[in-house]
Amino acid sequence: MSSLSKSQATTSQRTVVVDTSRSPFARLRPLSLSDVRIYDAFWTPRLEINRTATIPFEYEQCESTGRLDNFRRVIGRYEGPFQGRYFNDSDVYKWLEAASWSLATHPDPALEAQVDKTIELIAAAQDKDGYLDTYFTFERVPERWTNLPVLHELYCAGHLIQAAVAHHRATSSDSLLTVATKLADHIVATFGPTAHSGACGHPEVEMALVELARDTGDERYLREAQFFIEQRGHHLPSMDGKAYDQDHAPIREQHEVVGHAVRALYLYSGVTDVSAEMGEQALEQALETLWDNFTERKVYITGGAGARYEGEAFGVDYELPNDRAYAETCAAIASVMWNWRLLLLKGEARFADMIETTLYNSVLSGVSLDGEVFFYQNPLADNGQHRRQPWFTTACCPPNIARLFASLPGYLYSTSDAGIWTHLYIASTATTMLPNGQSITLEQQTNYPWDGEVELSVQIDAPSSFSLFLRVPAWAAGARMTINSEEFTQPIEPGSYVEIRREWQSGDVVHLSLPMEVRMLVSNSHVAPDYSRVAMMRGPLVYCAEQVDNPGVDLANVVLPAQPAWETVERPDLLGGIRTIQTRALLTNPQPPDEASLYRSYNAARPTYTSTSLTAIPYYAWANREAGAMQVWLPIDRYA
Ligand SMILES: [Zn+2]
Repeated sequence: MSSLSKSQATTSQRTVVVDTSRSPFARLRPLSLSDVRIYDAFWTPRLEINRTATIPFEYEQCESTGRLDNFRRVIGRYEGPFQGRYFNDSDVYKWLEAASWSLATHPDPALEAQVDKTIELIAAAQDKDGYLDTYFTFERVPERWTNLPVLHELYCAGHLIQAAVAHHRATSSDSLLTVATKLADHIVATFGPTAHSGACGHPEVEMALVELARDTGDERYLREAQFFIEQRGHHLPSMDGKAYDQDHAPIREQHEVVGHAVRALYLYSGVTDVSAEMGEQALEQALETLWDNFTERKVYITGGAGARYEGEAFGVDYELPNDRAYAETCAAIASVMWNWRLLLLKGEARFADMIETTLYNSVLSGVSLDGEVFFYQNPLADNGQHRRQPWFTTACCPPNIARLFASLPGYLYSTSDAGIWTHLYIASTATTMLPNGQSITLEQQTNYPWDGEVELSVQIDAPSSFSLFLRVPAWAAGARMTINSEEFTQPIEPGSYVEIRREWQSGDVVHLSLPMEVRMLVSNSHVAPDYSRVAMMRGPLVYCAEQVDNPGVDLANVVLPAQPAWETVERPDLLGGIRTIQTRALLTNPQPPDEASLYRSYNAARPTYTSTSLTAIPYYAWANREAGAMQVWLPIDRYA
C-alpha cells in the first residue's frame, strides 16, 4: 500500500518532477532540480536558449494565437469566439510548467510576475464547482464530460495539475495548486466507482493525479488515477473501445504498444507512477511486456516513437519507415517520461539508456539551435521538404520541449538506500543527503557527448561508507574506470550501473572512460527500409548525412564500403560546435535511363563506383541550414 496517507502533513517543497521519495515500491529517489547546477559545454547553451528564447517566445505564441484570450473570454475580458482547438488550454499549462521549473533554477522576477498574472487569469476562469476548461463555457456548458474519447477535458486538467505541482514545488506558492486541487476534487466527485464511469481518450491526467497525491498527501487523487487506469478496456459506453486510445483491452492484458504514441506512452507513465505507490506484480509485468515490445520492435534508433502519420500511431512490429517516420517530438518526450519513471521504480540502466538515446536524438531534433522553430515529426530521411515551424495549430510539442529542458537538472542523479546514482553524463554539481543524513556534493566534469571522459569528485564533511553508482551505457563495451588514479579491477558490464562501495573521503575522484569510436549499426532484418543499410553512432549521438555538407553528391547514390575508415573532426565553427564524422565512400553511377525511369531490368553485374568523401553530422542538428536531403541509414556494400 502507498504510504501517502502517513505523510498527510508533509507538503514537500522539493523541486522534483516525479517525487518517489516516499513511494514504497520505488528503488530510487530523485534530486531536487535546484540542487543540481549544470555547467556543461553541450547543455548549458541549450538550456539558456530554452530559458531566454523558447519560454518567452512560447508565451508570446500563447498570447498571439488567442490561447490566453480564451481564458479572458470566460471572465468577460475578451469578446469573441473561442480560438483554436479544444485542447488549447493545455499549451498555456505546459508553458506555466516550463516557466515554473525555470524559476526553480533561475529566479527571475519578470518571469515570476508573468506567471502570477497567468495564474490569476486561470483562477478567475474556474467555475465555482471547480470545473475548468475554457472550451466548455457559455453555450458548450451542457457538453461537459459528454465526449471523453475525443474532447481532451481530463487531458487539459492533467496539464493544469502538473503545472500546479511544478509551480508549488518551485515557488512554494499554492496559488495554482489551489486551482488544481479544486479541479481535481471536482473530477473525483464526477468520476469514480460511485459516480460516472470512463476515462479520457488522451491519457495524461493519471500521472498528474499521482503527482498531486504525492504533493498534497491526499490519497484520493492516487485512487482516482488508479480508477482511470482500470476503466480502460471494459467497453464502457462513455469510451470508444479503440486501440487508438488504448481502450482495446484492460491494462494488464495489453501486451503490444499500439495506437496513438503520445497517448500510449503517457498512459504507461501513469501506470508506472501507480505501480511505484501500489507495487502490484501484474501491473509491473504488463509494463515490462509493453517496454520489451516498444524497445525490441517499435522504436527508432533515434528514440523516435510512433511510426505512422495515420493516427500519430505506432505501426505493427518492425514498421519503421524513415522518410515517413512520424516520430512526434511529444512521443519522444513521453518516452523519456515513461523511462524516467521506470528508472525510479527499478534502478536499471536500460531505462536510463533509453532516456539518453531519446534525449540526444529524437527530443533534441525537435527544436532548432536558436530555440524558436520546432519539429512536430522527426523523420530519419528527408528530401529537403521537412522544415521546423515556429508554432502549430496543435502546438503540443514546443511547450513540451520547454518543460522537459527546464526540468533537465532533475534527471541527472538519484539516491537510494545504498547511495548516489549518476544517470547522465553532463558537467554539473549536485548536492544532496546520503542515506545516513550526511551532506554530499558530487562534482561531474566532462565534455560528453563529444568525448567519453567523465570525472566525478566527491566532497563530504567526514569519511563515509556508501555506494556511488555510475551508468555504463549498453554501447560502451571496453569502458574503463579508475578511483584516485588506480585501475578499477572489477568487471564493468555495459548496460548496467557499476556500483562502487567503499569508505569515501572528501576529494576522492572517479574517472570513467567510455569508448567513443564511431559505431555502425544494422537493424533487425524485418525492418525493410533499413535492409542492407547502416546507421552511424558515436557515443549517444546518431549521425546523419545532410546535403549541405556533401555538395554535388546525390545522397541517394552514396554507398558505404564494407569497412569505412571513419574520422572524427572537431568543428567548433559549425552548428554551435559539433564533431562531424567523415570517410571515403562510394558513389554509384546512374546511367540513363536509370535516372529517368522508375523501374529497369535487373542487372547481375557488380555495380561500378566512383569515390567520394562523405560527411555526417549529429542527427539532432539537421535542418538548421539550407534545405536539402538527409539520411540516417546509408546503404553499405559488403563486397566493396
Ligand atoms: Zn506534440
